[in-house]
Amino acid sequence: MYRYIFNQVRGIIPRISETELIALRSGGVSVDRQIFEGRLLRSQSGLDMHVGRLGPAAVNTVDALLKRYGSQPIYPSSHVYDAMSDLGKARLLGMSIDTKYGGTMMPISKQSRILARIASHNPSLAVATMVPNSLGPGELLQHYGTEEQKRKYLPGLASGAFIPCFGLTGPNNGSDATGQIDTGTVIRQNGEIMIRVSINKRYITLAPIANLIGVAFNLQDPDGLLATHGPSGAKPGVTLALLERGHPGLEQLTYHNPNSAGFPNGTLKGTLTIPLSSIIGGAANAGNGWMMLMECLSVGRGVSLPASANGSSKMVTYASMLYIKHRTQFKMNIGRMEAVRERFINMFMDTWTINAAVNYTNQILDSGAKPSVITGLMKYQTTERGRNVLLAGMDIFGGSAICTGPNNIFTKFYQAAPIGITVEGSNILTRNLITFGQGLNKSHPFIYPIFMAISDNDLSAFRTHFNGMVKSAVVNYFKSFRVSGSGNPQQRLDLLCIRFSNLSNFVALLGGKIKANQIISGNMADILSNIYMSHALLSLPSTKACRLVSEYCVAHLCNEAERKINYVIDNYPNMYIRQFIKPFRYREQSMSITDINRIYEHVVSSPEVYAVLKEDIYIADSIVSKLEQLDTIKDKTSSEYLALYNDIVSVGEFPAD
Ligand SMILES: Cc1cc2nc3c(=O)[nH]c(=O)nc-3n(C[C@H](O)[C@H](O)[C@H](O)COP(=O)(O)OP(=O)(O)OC[C@H]3O[C@@H](n4cnc5c(N)ncnc54)[C@H](O)[C@@H]3O)c2cc1C
Repeated sequence: MYRYIFNQVRGIIPRISETELIALRSGGVSVDRQIFEGRLLRSQSGLDMHVGRLGPAAVNTVDALLKRYGSQPIYPSSHVYDAMSDLGKARLLGMSIDTKYGGTMMPISKQSRILARIASHNPSLAVATMVPNSLGPGELLQHYGTEEQKRKYLPGLASGAFIPCFGLTGPNNGSDATGQIDTGTVIRQNGEIMIRVSINKRYITLAPIANLIGVAFNLQDPDGLLATHGPSGAKPGVTLALLERGHPGLEQLTYHNPNSAGFPNGTLKGTLTIPLSSIIGGAANAGNGWMMLMECLSVGRGVSLPASANGSSKMVTYASMLYIKHRTQFKMNIGRMEAVRERFINMFMDTWTINAAVNYTNQILDSGAKPSVITGLMKYQTTERGRNVLLAGMDIFGGSAICTGPNNIFTKFYQAAPIGITVEGSNILTRNLITFGQGLNKSHPFIYPIFMAISDNDLSAFRTHFNGMVKSAVVNYFKSFRVSGSGNPQQRLDLLCIRFSNLSNFVALLGGKIKANQIISGNMADILSNIYMSHALLSLPSTKACRLVSEYCVAHLCNEAERKINYVIDNYPNMYIRQFIKPFRYREQSMSITDINRIYEHVVSSPEVYAVLKEDIYIADSIVSKLEQLDTIKDKTSSEYLALYNDIVSVGEFPAD
């Protein structure tokens, strides 16, 4: 019987390419495994809202830079070299580099707070800080470089003497990064084995100013030179090499202008000859590039862009909270208008959720875990929610959010937000294809072992894992009939998690068709994300006032996720199987108007909530510091109040021609 089932399952599992298999094997699992098992463990000990909190010295260092560079774009301008040099002097370019190579090797929690603070005031400076600390060659060298490469390059990267960039994508390889990637060939030149490659890279961050350049290409070896003359392990395939500026044939001639957001981004082109010793990790690492990139991306994706979304969201939300308390129309503060409150509360809950999820994920990463599904969902959730927060803030500030000038904090975020969404895997792809698909294969306790048993044609292992899967699926199916009162957030979340796990097993029955059923996959990714972020909100210790806010956010996330469960059930492609899951539809809920008003009153009057929003953002030198000052003046008819109010509501005025 097992042989028959074995053959049936082999028929439905998706065909997985070599690159997908490497992506699947990269990184590890964490809470995502519990969610797919349908049992969220109660909060782990040791979690702390304040982990990584910046001390006065770190705050002063960052603030001095922000004071110097303001909120202005750093590129195109010769200014950019000063900025890189100052970031190096401030020791902010080697946060992931070992101290023995001149770096500062900080915990992720601290790195994230530094990036959030920079991003809250100057997004272009934040990008210039992020790349050297994430996907620039620094991290690749740190993990895979030869000792000689590490000694040669890491101290210079940490000090800012080397400005890095990494070129993977080009006009024909965007989301499908290795699909039509540049091709290199192993050749023999003057008796030496070399690589000849033509590159055509675009969108490469820092490329116009970089002097240490990582490039990825597909290495081919038609004459079998690697096998006969290369070190053991060297093979054809995606390969990563390091070049210095001025390498013969390397062209760094043009730049792009992504939304005038003001950071260097451009092209790498040319036909080059590269020695095997320039491969990151040396010649033995030829052909290992995709695995190396996947391993590094799996952490980086969960840190820089979420930190940046956190910084901008907190800034915009804190500013909006103060603004609606004072901006007056129709003889009342706009915060007293229910429609404005509703918009504000939605943005506030997104910001609170981003902050908790970032904080929680950083602690997972600092524990040494590399959960690739979680870092992927963090990238798309935080950048997507960050964009919503920004748009809501702009609605609330009205015209003053649109007109540029000294009081405008929005335009720079508006220019930068789509960039965070497009890079490191566009969100449509990450949400609709990768997160749940990779989750099924990686986080699900049985699917990957079953898949491997089939690949190895191991009937005995297949039987063990198949039996495990059937048992767990049956248990979760019957547990899904439970009902929970919506009053207790933890119980509600626990049931949602069981029903998600159960629904995942039914969606898994679609096999390879999941790749085409991208709307179902995207909705499953959202449910998984909302469970994860709710778990973060409930797990982090907090004060009573903050706990209340977190519980409202969990209710909001559960409302969203339950609606999506219904959507997946209603659209399940097989009408017969659909009948089995219909009983698990939810009665849809939305936040009541009473709750919206209640949470608003709580938020605007709670110093603890203010403190969370203000943490890791740079308030000086912006309209926000003026709003804070306005908030301290009790007499709203005083001349001091009125003068400051009029200053705050003014927008940039420029001489007409
Ligand atoms: C400002 C900026 C900085 C960048 N920095 C770097 C860098 O430093 N180094 C580097 O190597 N690259 C960099 N990139 C490249 C970036 O990673 C790619 O832009 C990104 O992967 C998307 O590729 P694309 O823009 O060609 O979009 P396309 O691949 O053409 O995708 C178009 C749309 O289709 C969607 N899509 C594609 N395939 C699928 C699918 N199978 N299922 C569902 N949806 C799909 C995508 O999500 C997207 O919405 C940068 C890009 C930008 C814009």
